[in-house]
Amino acid sequence: MKKFTNMFFREMRTFDAIFIGTSPVMILEALQTSLEGKSVLMIDRRDSLGGAWHTAVLGSFKGIEIGCHYIKRYRKGYAFLEELIGRTLPVMDPQPCVQFWKCQFDHAQRSPAEFSLCIKNIRERKYRSFFSHLFRSIHFFWQEYLYKKQWDSPFCYPKEGCAEMIKALQRLLDASSIEIIHGRSVHEIYVEKNKKNGVCHTDQDDIFFRECVISSCTNLQTIHYPKKNIVLEKIVRSYDHVVLHIHGKKAQPFHYMEVRDNRYFSRVSDVGFCNPSFKKHGKKNELLLCVQIPANHWSKLQHNEKAFSDILLIQLEKKKLLQPGGNVLAYWSNRYETPFMDDHELDRIEKEFYPAIRTMKTTDMGTALARYADQWSSVLLMAHCIRQQEHRCTSDIEKRVLTLMNI
Ligand SMILES: Cc1cc2nc3c(=O)[nH]c(=O)nc-3n(C[C@H](O)[C@H](O)[C@H](O)COP(=O)(O)OP(=O)(O)OC[C@H]3O[C@@H](n4cnc5c(N)ncnc54)[C@H](O)[C@@H]3O)c2cc1C
Repeated sequence: MKKFTNMFFREMRTFDAIFIGTSPVMILEALQTSLEGKSVLMIDRRDSLGGAWHTAVLGSFKGIEIGCHYIKRYRKGYAFLEELIGRTLPVMDPQPCVQFWKCQFDHAQRSPAEFSLCIKNIRERKYRSFFSHLFRSIHFFWQEYLYKKQWDSPFCYPKEGCAEMIKALQRLLDASSIEIIHGRSVHEIYVEKNKKNGVCHTDQDDIFFRECVISSCTNLQTIHYPKKNIVLEKIVRSYDHVVLHIHGKKAQPFHYMEVRDNRYFSRVSDVGFCNPSFKKHGKKNELLLCVQIPANHWSKLQHNEKAFSDILLIQLEKKKLLQPGGNVLAYWSNRYETPFMDDHELDRIEKEFYPAIRTMKTTDMGTALARYADQWSSVLLMAHCIRQQEHRCTSDIEKRVLTLMNI
C-alpha cells in the first residue's frame, strides 16, 4: 500500500534538459543549454558543486582542493578559462613532473612516463597492462620525438586553484535559471520509443526530460528502452585522497608530482600553495599536501589512520619531496569511487538514444575544455556581463545575454 501511495504521489516534473553530475564541464554545457532558452535541471548525489573538482572546508581552511589536480596544456582550454575567470592563468613553476626511480620527467612527456609503467607492470607480473603501456609509450615516443608534436602551452593553473573556477561557475549558476538538486542519485533512465522524451528515476521522484546529458563519469547502471535494456560498460576506479597538514619543508619545489615507483601513493599536489585561506591562516613552515593513495589502502587501516598518515610522511621524505624531520598536524581523507566510460561507450550510447540522451566526453578537463570551448561562447558573454554588472538583478543578466545572442 505504502509503495502504491509513494508511486502515486511521487513528484513528477518535466525539464527540457537534465544534467547528471555537476563537474565544471557539465555546468558549462548546462549554462549554454539554459542560454538557448531551455529549462535545465542539474542533479548530483554529492552535496557540493564540482564533481572531482569540488572543494571543502578542512579545519580552519576554506575552499581546499581535495583531489590532486592539473589541467592539460592546451592553449585553447586555458584561454577559455581565463575569459571565464576574468584573469590570466599563471604558468606553473615548476611544471608538473613524473618521478620514477631516480629520474624525473616533464609530465607532458608521456613516453618516459608510460615506459616507467611498463617496467612497473613487469615487476608486478601484470602482462596485459604491460603490453598496453608498451604500445602507448611507443605511440607517444613517435609523437613527441619523431613526429615532434609540440604542446602549444606550458602547464598553467588558476592562481587560487580550482576553487576560483568553481566560484566563477557558481556566480553564473546564480544568475541563471538552472535548478540544481544536490544529494540525490539518479538510478535509472527510461527512454521512450520515439527517443524524444524520457524519465529519470531518483530515490525521491520521477523527472521527465526531453534530453538527458551524461558524462564520462556519470554513474548509471542501465538505460531502459521498450523491449531492450542497455547495460553501460564502465570501469570503476577507486582512490583515497588524503590532505595532510604538515609541519615541515619541501626538499625540492613542486606543485604537482606523479610518483610511479611507490606503493603507498601515486600523486601529490601542493593544495595550500594556491589557497588564499591557507596562506592567511597557515603558519610558517606549514604545508597542505593532497596525496592520492591507490584503492583501499587508507580504508584497510580504518582504525590506524594516524599511523598511515605518518607512513605517508616518511614516504614523501624518502622520495625527496620533503625534508626529513617533519610531522603531521592533521589529516582529512576523501574517497572517490569514479565510474569511467570511454569515448567509444559514450558514442555507442549516443548513437542508440540520441536525441533523448546526449553525452559529454570529460575524461580530463584540459581536453574537454579545448574540445567544447567553441560551443560555449554565450557562457563567456554571460561571464563578461556579470563582471560588468555585478550588482544587477540576476534575471536581467540572462535577458541581456539572450538579447545579445539574438543580434
Ligand atoms: C580524484 C580525481 C582526480 C582527478 N584529477 C584530474 C586532474 O588533475 N586533471 C584532469 O584533467 N582530470 C582529472 N580527473 C578526471 C575528472 O574525472 C575530469 O576532469 C572531470 O571532472 C570529469 O567530469 P565528469 O562530469 O565526467 O565526472 P566528475 O567530475 O567525477 O563528476 C561527476 C559528478 O556526478 C555525480 N554523479 C555521478 N553519477 C550520478 C548519478 N547517477 N546520480 C547523481 N549524481 C551522479 C557525482 O557525484 C559527481 O559529483 C580526476 C578525477 C578524479 C576522480
